[in-house]
Amino acid sequence: MTKIAPVIIVLGNNSIPVARKIISVLPEAQLYGLAGRTSDVDVSFTEFGVTLRELFTNNTPIIGFCATGILIRTLAPLLANKRQEPPVLAVAEDGSAVVPLLGGLNGVNSLARKIASVLSIKPALTTTGDIRFGIALEDPPAGYRLSNPEYAKTFMSDLLAGQSVRLEGNAAWLRNSSLPIVQDAEKVIEVTEKAVDSTPNHLIYHPATIAIGITPLNPTLHTGEDCELVALVQQMLADAQLAPASVAGVFASISDAAEPGLQAIASSFNLPIRFFTPDAIAQVMYQNNTADVAIGAALLAAAGELVMQRQTANFSCAIAIAPLPIDINTTGTPRGRLAIIGTGPGRSDWMSPEVKEILRNATDFVGYSTYLNLVKAFTKDKRLHESDNREEIARAKVALDLAAEGWFVVVISSGDPGIYAMAAAVFEVLDKQAKPEWQSIEIQVAPGISAMQAAAAKIGAPLGHDFCTISLSDILKPWSIIEQRITAAAQADFVIAFYNPVSKQRTWQLAQTQKILLRHRSADTPVVLARNLGRDGESTVVCTLGNLVPEQADMRTVIIVGSSKTRMIQKPDGGIWVYTPRRYDD
Ligand code: SAH
Repeated sequence: MTKIAPVIIVLGNNSIPVARKIISVLPEAQLYGLAGRTSDVDVSFTEFGVTLRELFTNNTPIIGFCATGILIRTLAPLLANKRQEPPVLAVAEDGSAVVPLLGGLNGVNSLARKIASVLSIKPALTTTGDIRFGIALEDPPAGYRLSNPEYAKTFMSDLLAGQSVRLEGNAAWLRNSSLPIVQDAEKVIEVTEKAVDSTPNHLIYHPATIAIGITPLNPTLHTGEDCELVALVQQMLADAQLAPASVAGVFASISDAAEPGLQAIASSFNLPIRFFTPDAIAQVMYQNNTADVAIGAALLAAAGELVMQRQTANFSCAIAIAPLPIDINTTGTPRGRLAIIGTGPGRSDWMSPEVKEILRNATDFVGYSTYLNLVKAFTKDKRLHESDNREEIARAKVALDLAAEGWFVVVISSGDPGIYAMAAAVFEVLDKQAKPEWQSIEIQVAPGISAMQAAAAKIGAPLGHDFCTISLSDILKPWSIIEQRITAAAQADFVIAFYNPVSKQRTWQLAQTQKILLRHRSADTPVVLARNLGRDGESTVVCTLGNLVPEQADMRTVIIVGSSKTRMIQKPDGGIWVYTPRRYDD
């Protein structure tokens, strides 16, 4: 599971110096500031309650510079399950207090300690176990899972009441704590990857020490045979008497990354998958004198001992155990992801939640500088790869190469990525210049609101009936084809949305378009010129085909030319609505 970066919420500029101090020890944290009251923040918000509840629901750790009461009252309706809540802390504006409020099972106390130490204060810890023994049994550090959390509370209470505990197995965080450890104590804390039953007097922690290596045995993808692989892994773990909770991840060669069986295993056991290069695996195979890639991958991940290897007709699977928990963040690389997203025309509330989620999680942003500007709120700690707007194919290749290395790459277009934008360029490169290493990448297109939709919404419903879009740019297609399409669309009586109407180098095409359209459509046909939608200098102007002045358009204008049915309505305030009716019966 990816760890979600904390968000620090400030309601005024006075809190920012202390917030920055906290960021010095939590560099991944994002600073959210109330719009109008704060400046120089990563994300500016207007609705405190909505923002806070959205972050909480997304499991984001929250550090609020405000009264504890405000945080509690705002989140109260959402408090249902203490196992699932993220850490929530209140910090005093002058940095004199840090109060952990929620998320006791998800590390709030350790976060409070970290913040308190950079502010040189004492955290307001109230959990007795934490204070007395320096650990929370219910909230073990990364790499350990408590198999029976329901027993932990009473177990801790018994220790606080004076009972002692015996430690079995290896875990420095327990050994080095202030727990009352005694050799022959009746109560036991055991650290083991074995599947053992727990009792109220016997707590079990499963360390993330098991690596599962998998390789398909023939080159075709095994769709539909995933169940076979899931059953194999389940059986192997059962036969080796190992606890599934101790499995750190699934490991494989990057050349097998697109194999659906791997995804099936990962999702059915809720495990991360990490990949190694074929060379790195080959070296381990050579050292261990094996021809099995699954064994190579498992041993490379675990740097420990091979426990079991089995195979079916389609897969080989190996289990290895590491001496210490495997850190999934530093072992292999995840499958590369390429998301081709559309930001919408410009306004952040016109950007889809899916796109925002991708922007938050991606590692690398690829795009033309103007488009990178549209997602500025998300660029902190990202690697930015700016390029010239015309270099679409080169940009697509850069993005695919980065994703093939295991990064989560986002390619940014304005509007919708599939409309005169980067999605087609990526697929063209994939189709015509495919490299084998790109096979492993998971590719996704996330839609956005296109300029014509934003323009239509501003002015009414001009796209209410059949319409088409035509780009007037003749950089990638010859003008003769554009002329043909304008004529055909005009003859077919489509409403037409014109993209790229003019640019610095292309000035005559729009006047020529107007001439062609006037051959088929009356001079009083409504025309909408929408400029800089969702950005500074937005304007929407309505004129007619006859009095359209091409110089009124620029490269940030989208033009909608009505059909013979498109109508204008006067608004009481002097403005105009434009719409195209859907019925043809009058
Ligand atoms: N993918 C984009 C289109 C890119 S082509 C989309 O779906 O909107 C670039 C053209 O889109 C510009 O020349 C202009 O015609 C139009 N456009 C893009 N953003 C715009 C905006 N904010 N306001 C008006 N037109 C815009």
